[in-house]
Amino acid sequence: MHITVDEQSCVGAGQCVLSVPDVFDQDEMTGRVVLLQGRPPADLEDDVVEATRACPAQAITVTDD
Ligand code: SF4
Repeated sequence: MHITVDEQSCVGAGQCVLSVPDVFDQDEMTGRVVLLQGRPPADLEDDVVEATRACPAQAITVTDD
């Protein structure tokens, strides 16, 4: 799995950070998403897919390697 995020679309809602804190963080100044790892371990992939669906701004994209 490969993750990309669109910081410009992110509205800082923070669901992704709550769902998968090992993968997503938020910028302390802007509140926008910060991607911690673009290729998560397999055991986090389901949570990342769920976070992608839950993002209100469609700011997270996952693709297969
Ligand atoms: S869930 Fe979407 S809008 Fe909210 S912080 Fe994460 S990327 Fe940004």
